[in-house]
Formats: sequence, structure tokens, C-alpha cells
Amino acid sequence: MLSTMQDVPLTVTRILTHGMTIHGKSQVTTWTGEPEPHRRSFAEIGARAAQLANALRDGLGVTGDQRVATLMWNNAEHVEAYLAIPSMGAVLHTLNLRLPAEQLVWIVNHADDKVVIVNGTVLPLIAPLLPQLPSVEHLVVVGPGDRSVLEGVAPRVHEYEELLAGRPTTYDWPELDERQAAAMCYTSGTTGDPKGVVYSHRSVYLHSMQVNMAESMGLTDKDTTLVVVPQFHVNAWGLPHATFMTGVNMLMPDRFLQPAPLAEMIEREKPTHAAAVPTIWQGLLAEVTANPRDLTSMARVTIGGAACPPSLMEAYDKLGVRLCHAWGMTETSPLGTMANPPAGLSEEEEWLYRVTQGRFPAGVEARLVGPGGEHLPWDGESAGELEVRGPWIAGAYYGGADGEHLRPEDKFSEDGWLKTGDVGVISGEGFLTLTDRAKDVIKSGGEWISSVELENAIMAHPDVAEAAVVAVPDDKWGERPLAAVVLKEGATADYAALRAFLARSVAKWQLPERWTIVPAVPKTSVGKFDKKVIRRQYADGELE
Ligand code: ADP
Repeated sequence: MLSTMQDVPLTVTRILTHGMTIHGKSQVTTWTGEPEPHRRSFAEIGARAAQLANALRDGLGVTGDQRVATLMWNNAEHVEAYLAIPSMGAVLHTLNLRLPAEQLVWIVNHADDKVVIVNGTVLPLIAPLLPQLPSVEHLVVVGPGDRSVLEGVAPRVHEYEELLAGRPTTYDWPELDERQAAAMCYTSGTTGDPKGVVYSHRSVYLHSMQVNMAESMGLTDKDTTLVVVPQFHVNAWGLPHATFMTGVNMLMPDRFLQPAPLAEMIEREKPTHAAAVPTIWQGLLAEVTANPRDLTSMARVTIGGAACPPSLMEAYDKLGVRLCHAWGMTETSPLGTMANPPAGLSEEEEWLYRVTQGRFPAGVEARLVGPGGEHLPWDGESAGELEVRGPWIAGAYYGGADGEHLRPEDKFSEDGWLKTGDVGVISGEGFLTLTDRAKDVIKSGGEWISSVELENAIMAHPDVAEAAVVAVPDDKWGERPLAAVVLKEGATADYAALRAFLARSVAKWQLPERWTIVPAVPKTSVGKFDKKVIRRQYADGELE
């Protein structure tokens, strides 16, 4: 028997119209580097999203599910693009402005982007690439930045504000199929070509609801979230859409992502929540240690994208800021787990849950798979590769305009689950603890050493700012750990001291023999430790 319920598609359009009317007064505040930030209400954003959709359709001829890309920082105009492009039936394609040029070119061509909306400040990045981007017919430039780099380029260039000016502030939004593509994002392609993940309206809608649940980020219109995680990194973890559902104010840092301006914007604008990868919080911690600032408004922070060292959580606890660990991937929209402890526990007991990656929400099913393909129990001990499925988890990658979607065997199981490449254990209560990425784990003499466990233990040393551990070839053991350590300013610890400190919490056979002090840990385009660069530097003899 079918239900008697109405069949109303779950679309971004509904998020847009809801946010601009029910939460019309909520605000997007964009940092500008000027004495005053720029403020725009959700009602204005909604009206301008309609103007943008009119401009894209009537001015630039965007039709059907054509791809409209953004190469932008986090700001109000980027939110407008997030809402307008999917709602008109086109596909929002967020481009990572930190990718190497050849990857950017590959991705734009593969996605067949027709329009690129670009911040003026990143024009120097894309201008020289335009001759290699034949599908791009229009470039729409937003905000400050030197336009002279565009002289003589092939696509037609438009100024965002001029394009919107005078257009109607309403749009006859089409009724879309909820399974239709709304947005796409390519993984950074650490191995092989980048892979395109295509989100549906339905997946965005359901993921936004999950982000808003109390057991996840649980924000309301009384909150302001500082969205540090870039809108080009898995849709800023879903925040621009989720906040429009519940009226959460957004504080957008634009290109001011350095620790000092972040500290200033927190003290001045008093966000109640923020989201970013551990590297950002490490940097901010060093900044406020040197130049104290009041961060206490920001009571809650969502931290993920890479393992959060427990020592970082402790340091922020002391500043009155509670870091909440989350796990996810581009393929999982990204919310996969969040580490809110269960009810009724003391602070000490809560700690044991906070340092895990967290538990799965109702929309994410999980299983652990052993080396022989067997399914492992959730006993907190049996370690295997994590596989997940759910309505906001990818079941394939984009195969290009004429191709079928791709389901590579190493990424999807025969029965359609996503193979995450992450290795860990799950407790009986459904809390996930990741020990490593399968490709980062150190295989020493038939035993596995978790690089993350060593990193966390080294980073607990008071002299250490950051530490990355990678596997390097070893004649006797196959692989052994190499620890690359960044010391805090003025710190004096030497290898022997670090090793002795580590020996207190780690089994002797796991202790690295190879240590190197580096000025900084190399980072990926989204601010994670770039372990393949460290491995290469070691192989090339560049590390002492
Ligand atoms: P990329 O592969 O380019 O880094 P993603 O941003 O999709 O792209 O990264 C997803 C991966 O990041 C996960 O598979 C996992 O290895 C890692 N990750 C994300 N969150 C966490 C976390 N809280 N703890 C440990 N690893 C994490």
C-alpha cells in the first residue's frame, strides 16, 4: 500500500524560499578587511539569488542542467550562487582555488563548465588558464581585484553587480525532481584523476536537516556560525544550506583565513560556533597564545577533515571553547559522524567519547570489513575498513557529459556501499575510532602502526606545534615510521627528549627511529597534512 502523504520533492529551492521568508532577518556577514564588515540579510540574499538566476538564464543563456562553477572564497555572493544555481535547475560546481593549475583545468573540462563566477582576488589564478578551458563561455567577476589580467581573454567577462542590476528580484523557480543534480565537487585526486561527486537536491536537503539536528551541529537562529571551512571543500560541510533552513547567521571570512584576522573577527563578531580543519585551530591557538583574545563566545566548534589531536581539544577547553570531532568525506556530503557524547556522563567519561570520531546519525549506515571481505563486529577492538551507505552518501562518480557514472571497485563494494579507505574500530554504542587511512598506516614487520596515534602522542608534548608521521621503507621491517616535527617558537626539545616522551604512551616497537625537525608540515589544498609530500621529500633526501 502506498502512503497517503503528499509527494513534495526535497529541493534546494525549498530551502531558499523558506530561509528568505521565515528567517529573512538573519544575516550573512562577510569580512572585507575594511573597518566594517559587509552585512546582507537572508531576505536580500534570496532576492539577489533570484536576480542571479535571471541573469544566468536571460543574460548568459544557461539552460537545463548546465554547470555553473564558482571559484570563490566564503562570502555572501557565494551563498547566493549556492542557492540560485541549483534552484534554477542548473548544477553548482565549486572549484577549489588551491588546486594545482593542471588539476583545475582537468576538472573544469571534465565538468564542462559553461560559466565561472570568480572572486576578483583570484583572477590571476584562472586568467592564464582560460585558453585551456574551451567550455567556459562566460566569466562573472565579483568583488575587489585587478581586472587587467583579463585583457584579451576569450570568454565574455561580466561584472557580477552589473549583471544583477535591474533584474527582477523574483524567479519562477521550476519544480525539480529531487533526485536531480544540485551541486558537484571533485575530490582532490591524491591518486589518479580527480573524481566528481554529484549531490542531488534530496541529498542536500536531508544532509542539511541532519547538520541542524541537536545531535549534530544543533544550531538555531540565535547562533552565528563562523564558516572557515571553504565553500569549495565539500560545500563548507553543508553549512550554507543548513543555515538557510534554520536562520543561523553566517560569518564569512572571505580571503582572511590567517590566524590574526580570524582571532579579530571572533572577538568582534562573537560567533557562537565555527567549523574548520585542525590546521586552522592549531594556527589560531598559536596566535592567541602570543596575542591573547577573547574567544569564549565561540562555545562550540566542529572540527574534522583530519584527526583532531586530543591535546588540541584540551588546549581549547582551557580557553572555554569546546571542539567537537566530526568525520566525513567529499563522498559523504560530508557529515558521517559527530562526537557528541551520550547523556548522563561525567566530564571524564565524556572525554572518552569526545576523542573518538563520533557516532553515526540515522541517515548513515556503517560496517567494518576485514582483509578477507568479512564483516567485523562492533566491539571496539576489531579493526577493518569502514564502509558506509545512506541517502547523502555517493554511490558513484561523475563519468563526464557522455559517460556512464563510474563505480570503481576499490571505491564501491559489489552491493553498492562506499569504501571509505579509512581504517578503524566501532564500539558497541556505534562510536567510530579511526586509526588511520589505509594508505597511511605503517606496516612494520607484519604489524600495523597507526600514524595518527603517534602524531597525537607527539603533539601532546608542550614544545611541539605540529607533528606528522609517515611510513618510510626499511630494509629489515618493510616500513618504519618517520616523525616530522614542527617545534613551537623558542622550544628546545631534541629527538631524544621527544622519543622519551613518546615512550610513555606508545609501545617500544612502535617508537620512530627516524626524526626530522621541519619548519612546517606540508599541507594539501584543504589544509590537511600532505603525507605524500613528506614521503617524497624523504625519498629525495631532502629531510635531515
Ligand atoms: P581528501 O581525500 O581530498 O582529503 P576529503 O576532504 O573528502 O578529501 O577527505 C576525506 C578523508 O579525510 C576521510 O576519508 C578521512 O581519511 C579524513 N578525515 C576526515 N575527517 C576525519 C577525522 N575526524 N578524523 C580522521 N580522519 C578524518
